[in-house]
Amino acid sequence: AIINFGSINIDHVYQVDHFVQPGETIASTHYNQLLGGKGANQSIALAQAGADVRHVGSIHENDATFKQALIKKGVDCRGVHCSETPSGHAIIQVTPSGENAIVLFGGANQTITPKTVAKALDDASSSDWVLTQNETSSIDEVLRQAKEKQLKVAFNPAPMSDSVHRLPLDCIDLLIVNETEAAALTKKDTLDEIVAEFKQHWSNCEVIITLGKAGVMMLKGEECIEVSAFSVDAVDTTAAGDTFIGYFLSAYSSHTDAKRALTRGCAASAIAVTREGAAQSIPSQKEVDRFLAK
Ligand code: ADP
Repeated sequence: AIINFGSINIDHVYQVDHFVQPGETIASTHYNQLLGGKGANQSIALAQAGADVRHVGSIHENDATFKQALIKKGVDCRGVHCSETPSGHAIIQVTPSGENAIVLFGGANQTITPKTVAKALDDASSSDWVLTQNETSSIDEVLRQAKEKQLKVAFNPAPMSDSVHRLPLDCIDLLIVNETEAAALTKKDTLDEIVAEFKQHWSNCEVIITLGKAGVMMLKGEECIEVSAFSVDAVDTTAAGDTFIGYFLSAYSSHTDAKRALTRGCAASAIAVTREGAAQSIPSQKEVDRFLAK
């Protein structure tokens, strides 16, 4: 199984003529509530890709419908707890030109404790993977406890913050970053410098750098495997990275060779960017197979 310690957010999306200004009150012309959060998106992508995925997280009991939505997508949610803290949520203003401005409240995502982690890993077996991002509490414990249990540890430090530098990064087996996160993590500017830094200081760990429409690069031992992105008409790149991670890890954790797993990740995320939205843009396995057969 893949045990994902991840955020579950409720995205409140408001269409507005312009972003609200200091002291101003404006009317929104359209409102939508969507399931979001990098954690939930990655669990959905893993489930769509056919993986046995267990989500560990927390939401407020009033928002049980969002847990149901995850279950409906095929995610095992026995590790999703009810919290008295409001659910994690984002207030998102979207203008007619498609620009957004976001206020994010971590809420229940920040109530995961070292004990939650221990309980979730209690019956894990040595073939299991642990995955986490940077949107929940006790990430240090997730990395440490997973390593102690000799599970495979995948980490996606998104959204990137200074606190990532203080995590026990030596516990990670697989790091997955986009170019911005890679630059912040290595404190380097160019891709060449970033790659050199990873090769020198992260050689015990496999590193995947996603490069948007330029594709993806994986540093694996002495190897550097590159896969180009598929050429598509992108309309909304939200959750491209989450889709890539789910599809890649589903394949890679079941021993598909790296290049093939990277290609599946690129195909799934190429489909996702041709569709609006986050979770709802993640394709099914059938769609990915059909896309790759073309
Ligand atoms: P993030 O969404 O985390 O910023 P990226 O932008 O690097 O991550 O995108 C992740 C993956 O999604 C890329 O490696 C690529 O395979 C795919 N992708 C992203 N943007 C495009 C695009 N415009 N066309 C085709 N594939 C894309």
